Amino acid sequence: MKYFSTRGGMAPASYSEILLEGLATDGGLVVPETVPRVTPAQIESWRGLSYPELATEVLGLYATDISREDLSRMCHAAYSSENFVDAAIVPVTPLEGEISLVGLSEGPTLAFKDMAMQFLGQALEHVLSTADRALNIVGATSGDTGSAAEYALRGKAGISVFMLSPQGRMSDFQRAQMYSLTDENIHNIALEGVFDDCQNLIKALSGDLEFKREHDLGTVNSINLGRISAQMVYYFWAWLRATDAVAEAERATFEVSFTVPSGNFGNILSGHLARSMGLPIRRLVLAANENNVLDDFFRTGVYAPRAAAETYLTSSPSMDISKASNLERFIFDLLGRDPERLAAAWRELDETGQIDLTAELPRFVSEFGFESGTSTHADRVATIRSVFETTGTLLDPHTADGVKVAREHLEPGVPMLVLETAKPAKFPEIVFEATGERIGIPEHLDGLLELPQHVTDMGNDEAALRAFVAERATKR
Ligand SMILES: *Cc1c(COP(=O)(O)O)cnc(C)c1O
Repeated sequence: MKYFSTRGGMAPASYSEILLEGLATDGGLVVPETVPRVTPAQIESWRGLSYPELATEVLGLYATDISREDLSRMCHAAYSSENFVDAAIVPVTPLEGEISLVGLSEGPTLAFKDMAMQFLGQALEHVLSTADRALNIVGATSGDTGSAAEYALRGKAGISVFMLSPQGRMSDFQRAQMYSLTDENIHNIALEGVFDDCQNLIKALSGDLEFKREHDLGTVNSINLGRISAQMVYYFWAWLRATDAVAEAERATFEVSFTVPSGNFGNILSGHLARSMGLPIRRLVLAANENNVLDDFFRTGVYAPRAAAETYLTSSPSMDISKASNLERFIFDLLGRDPERLAAAWRELDETGQIDLTAELPRFVSEFGFESGTSTHADRVATIRSVFETTGTLLDPHTADGVKVAREHLEPGVPMLVLETAKPAKFPEIVFEATGERIGIPEHLDGLLELPQHVTDMGNDEAALRAFVAERATKR
């Protein structure tokens, strides 16, 4: 399997090669040359597999330049009981009526980013050691992504992590999670400034190609195809669990729908790919919060990213986006996987600030199964409350956005699987507002808040950051 760019300007590369790069060399996104098809019989033959075994099968269709033995070892190391609290790794639990929750937050940072990042950590270490290379991850985080990256890359050979976070803007829990790590290859930097200041410094360093090359800088952001491919696995897993009780004769064509709390369009894009591979998915329902550029897109066919100033801070913060980087991969498929049409669409975006695909709108549902909806703070609170009152289950605000939108898209006889993207313990304020319950941190993380913290305070100073990275970067 080879990979090339949505915009057509990159020589075909292997899975191992594209793991280290998020963006294609021509500014497009990396996509597989063809989407591998799986037959109903093949999916059925995976029914008895454990999660790491299933991951080996699904990822084996993409990571064709990594040996089966290595891939299996990596999947078992990533999806182990050391990293994931639930024995199933991804529990699928009935919630109400047709709706079940797909538990993607059993990992070390209590959010779904762990699902992809744990695999990526294994894969990067393997690829770097084979190629005798080093990688220094530089990133900015306001919470979830940074901690998931650190927990996946801690102690990995050949890799260091430099993570900027805005001083005083993270929750006590998030700070404790990241800053309590003692691994020598993890560097937390608390910057005097806001998230955008962190992001700007990272762009300045990564944009300096000489500095980037000299210090082997890289990122593990949500456009990384290693992450996208690892996320496909749980769509297969959830479909298999949802159909375990379906009569054997009916399974092959038994359709389920998914609702996905979405930000950068990474999670749901993996669902789109799984569906393209042949998994019987009826609808992929995108749930947005108040930052609903994507809901607008799926309802109107016009993609109009917003300015940072028009992006709200909400109570489901991991979905607060102004543009959705991964959408380019869906639009590529929508435009017949034609790099010229895709490049023209992105020129339109540069020139007019939007892409008008209203001519294609009917195909969004009929061909690709996409629907969408929006959920607000009041919806989140009401959903957390009603689910708690009727089932006793506490939801985090992102998953609540998902359940709210899922309820509006139910169809009789079609199971609706809502992806649970975080644990409520990460967001105690809204849980308290909705239910009056004071939720503590999970038992297995008892004592986390009291651990000594390791963090370097830094002014908003590019020269200081450069010196810091240059001095501590892992060398080849
Ligand atoms: C990252 C994140 C999302 C959004 O996922 P995308 O892949 O960016 O669409 C939703 N919920 C939580 C809790 C997240 O951490």
